Amino acid sequence: MNSQDFPILGQQIHGHRLAYLDNAATTQKPQQVIDSISYAYSHFNANIHRATHTLATIATEHHEHARQTVAGFINARNAKEIVFTKGTTDAINTAAFTIGETLSEGDEVIVSAMEHHSNLVPWQMLCQRKKLKLRVAPLKDDLTLDTAQLYKLFNSRTKVLSIAHVSNVLGIANPIEKIVKEAHKNNIIVLIDAAQSIPHLPVDVQKIDCDFLAFSAHKIYGPTGIGVLYGKQEILEQLPPYQGGGEMINHVSFENTTYNTLPYKFEAGTPDFIGSYAFGKALEYVENIGMENIAEHERNLCRLVERQLKEKFNNIKIYAEGIEKSGVISFNILRNDGSLIHPYDIAMLLDQQGVAVRSGHHCAEPLINLLGVVGTVRVSFGLYNEENDINQLIAALSKSVDILS
Ligand code: PMP
Repeated sequence: MNSQDFPILGQQIHGHRLAYLDNAATTQKPQQVIDSISYAYSHFNANIHRATHTLATIATEHHEHARQTVAGFINARNAKEIVFTKGTTDAINTAAFTIGETLSEGDEVIVSAMEHHSNLVPWQMLCQRKKLKLRVAPLKDDLTLDTAQLYKLFNSRTKVLSIAHVSNVLGIANPIEKIVKEAHKNNIIVLIDAAQSIPHLPVDVQKIDCDFLAFSAHKIYGPTGIGVLYGKQEILEQLPPYQGGGEMINHVSFENTTYNTLPYKFEAGTPDFIGSYAFGKALEYVENIGMENIAEHERNLCRLVERQLKEKFNNIKIYAEGIEKSGVISFNILRNDGSLIHPYDIAMLLDQQGVAVRSGHHCAEPLINLLGVVGTVRVSFGLYNEENDINQLIAALSKSVDILS
């Protein structure tokens, strides 16, 4: 699917065709997005919102147009609900801080056992700062979320549930619409970490009915350094700002400062207006292909790779085996004596054969500890991957396992 649009994929790595299978870490950029950064710097580089001169007006229009594009992409009610951040991590930290300002000692926050550190540590820090209780929803033996146990954690002190849409280790999706419904019955605010769903699945915030949703541009073919915190307008309006300075103010005096309207109240400092332009181009690019088509393509790749891994390797452990995956799959391979081939060694040897995968704890140490291993090998797909990437992976993996066994 359109791999010719991505110039980096034409490279040779160690004399081999590049099979880039590390898309969960970051995706490659189409020429249209790369060109848009050069175009922005060449044509309308001027700080936004503050000046009346023409370049600044054009830059501001592009930035606000990008916000509209993002709002349309996730079906937000309006663009005021789109706060530009540095990425998912920054978005979750923003939410944790500002929601945290409204919570009191003894209140409870829930995360799940499959969270990325970016959706765990900010809440842990908040709980320490405000003396709140952090509770963790467990997984079932098949590694899916134990929703029955999750709902049992809900009580009158539960104020926030922050949970991944798609796990960055397991690739499986949580039933977030149902979870949000149950949480709302208990007046719990729900944040969805959509870092790994936004590139792989259609995401509709009105359908999900989540209160907040966070994602990064670089995981959906856009630039690094920019992301989004979506928040329902009526909630964002009630919350205090996160950082001070720049466009987040209305009036400032030494005695007092009043704050700007949404979304600017949450956007301190010069926004990444070059990044937002390129981000908008990335979203237009995927919209042209269609998120449903991308989702179907990547589900098929996941099914194919899972089948081939099981067929070719006797001693393989695929995590969340047999459960539908969206773009991400993790596994380990054992030697005949039952010892684990270190995932790092596998990733190193694959790299020598042009195959880029990730190994390690994938910033989800608690989940990896639960799996009882040092890490996993993680293969993750993008819209440009095809069957030949899987063939190259399987051939390179066979060679690597022979060497390491
Ligand atoms: N959450 C999940 C599920 C992720 O996969 C990632 C990125 N690996 C993040 C959060 C953090 O994203 P970023 O580093 O772009 O802030």
